[in-house]
Amino acid sequence: MNIAHNLEALEIPMRFGTNESIIHPVLIWDEKEGATLIDTGIPGSHAAIGAHLERLGLSWKDLRRIILTHQDIDHIGGASAIVEASGAEVLAHPDDIPYIQGERMLIKWNPARLEAMLQAAPPEQHERVRRLFGAPPRVRVDRALADGERLPYRGGITVIHTPGPTPGHIGLYLSADRLLVSGDALRAENGLLQGPSPQMTPDLPLATASLRKLLSYPIERVLCYHGGLSAPGALARLRELALSA
Ligand SMILES: [Zn+2]
Repeated sequence: MNIAHNLEALEIPMRFGTNESIIHPVLIWDEKEGATLIDTGIPGSHAAIGAHLERLGLSWKDLRRIILTHQDIDHIGGASAIVEASGAEVLAHPDDIPYIQGERMLIKWNPARLEAMLQAAPPEQHERVRRLFGAPPRVRVDRALADGERLPYRGGITVIHTPGPTPGHIGLYLSADRLLVSGDALRAENGLLQGPSPQMTPDLPLATASLRKLLSYPIERVLCYHGGLSAPGALARLRELALSA
């Protein structure tokens, strides 16, 4: 889905057991700065992401950096294969780096979760589930991102530390587009913004405090990893969600 000139929300199918949904890694590119990918899908998503690059007239060698909004499997799963193909550097918040690098177990991954996924999947999918999720994905992070840091791409991308979904969760504010790439801090349902998923947010009060932090940015639209683009006028809805909880 094209969001603006040289800014795409990719549409990548994701299958967890019998649940199927579309997730939205974001691609930004520029002749001078190369391409930036925000989040990478579940393990095995690199092929679908590569097909999108090709569709947009790009290739792996154009991809210079990957920003991971947080450590969840559906965000970091494609990263190591993409790094291998592209040589891109990986950027993330320090509070999630030990998990992303495999030094600590991902906070939402454990053997019991794998067992539950196997039970939910039909027998013919067990091999695939084991292959994709049997060992949690990991990737080396090259650069730590600080809260409030402004990356020099696309006229300025501000890193906003929004813990709650995970300790090192970040959102990214693209000032030229007045667009927030929310990661899992927000979801969209038919364009209507919703707060983070309660099942996937271990610290909901902290996640709500993070939403209040977003109110100081002149956000017009929000691009959610789960649910896609919000309707315009997102800040009013965001205020409602942040202040009512
Ligand atoms: Zn997610």
